Amino acid sequence: MDERKKIQREMGQTDMDHDPVEAAEGVKRQALALGADSVGIGSIDRWKDAPTQMDPRQIMPECKSIIAMAFRVMRGSMRGIEEGTYFSNYSAMGYGGITYLYMPMTVINLCKYIEDRGYEAVPMGHQSDWRSVDAWYSEGGGRLKPDFSRPVAPGRAAPDVMIHLRFASYLCGLGEIGYSYMLLTPEFGPRNRLGVILTDVELAPDPIYDGPQLCNRCMACVKDCPTGAISGEETVKVDLAGNEVEFAKIDCDACNKGFRGAEKADCELPEDRQYMSEDTRPGWWSPFYKKPKNLYNTGQAVGGARGCTRACMIQLEKRGVLRNKFKDEFRRRKPWKVDWSSEPQYPQDVAMPGESVYGDGRKTDAGDDVD
Ligand code: SF4
Ligand code: SF4
Repeated sequence: MDERKKIQREMGQTDMDHDPVEAAEGVKRQALALGADSVGIGSIDRWKDAPTQMDPRQIMPECKSIIAMAFRVMRGSMRGIEEGTYFSNYSAMGYGGITYLYMPMTVINLCKYIEDRGYEAVPMGHQSDWRSVDAWYSEGGGRLKPDFSRPVAPGRAAPDVMIHLRFASYLCGLGEIGYSYMLLTPEFGPRNRLGVILTDVELAPDPIYDGPQLCNRCMACVKDCPTGAISGEETVKVDLAGNEVEFAKIDCDACNKGFRGAEKADCELPEDRQYMSEDTRPGWWSPFYKKPKNLYNTGQAVGGARGCTRACMIQLEKRGVLRNKFKDEFRRRKPWKVDWSSEPQYPQDVAMPGESVYGDGRKTDAGDDVD
């Protein structure tokens, strides 16, 4: 007979059954160990006035607790855009890669911790492409998308319900909703991606964030947004668990183009001058002739969130209100702008298309990989 001990995943632990405080501490320790940068818990009663299409109880009627986790965008992932030379890192490592790779692993593994103990856990990241509503609250969102989906039965929401990740994070105590409509955390300011878990285990909730004031209405986000997407005058107010939260009205169309580096053209452009559609050209905040392809599905943030993230972070760091402190300031040189009306100046040592990179007269072929 084989005497080797069978090694298998432990299940059936009862350490979440009795004390919600202890259970919450266990979940939060586990979340941090699995790679979340901050974690908070909200009780389901905080969603009692949520619109049906954003109500967690529509997904899990027995939901008792919501766990929100913030995953930091590395400040270094924004360095290349800040210097104007390396744009893909923010879109890959700071955006799509976190959203579609790193965060789901942590969220799923934390769900395993909960389900190993006999409670159900819904792992949620940023899978909102199937949502049935226009999610932009700041534009009076929440409207059903036409001809998209229908409720399966009376009393049910139309699929898919969408949990508002920023509001959920606020309701779990992770931070404030800034004027820019970004979630600001006391650790990283606006540098976060967010994941959420719905579960039927009772966990002691965290208070709504009441720490040092983060957003001081400095308006740096408004000033530095290249498309004017963040209104400096018009605001939106929402009630989140009895708290009035006010933020800027966002011009979603402007942001949708602008975050990809596109500027709206006044007229229809010929194909060779189109950036991503017939009415867009590259803005002064993009060095690309055409919008580069997405990285990790959603990564196409060519603009490096110039206003809502970089400008905001710079202000918050200057005020010393963030816990993630750095030896040096983020902005070290004068911000650049691409002058699309001038001819580009390339480095002396760069091989132009068709020129040799081998030093022996051989010409590179189109598509040659020279790395
Ligand atoms: S840049 Fe200023 S006004 Fe805008 S969200 Fe940040 S702290 Fe608030
Ligand atoms: S992502 Fe860019 S365009 Fe959109 S609000 Fe932020 S700074 Fe403005």
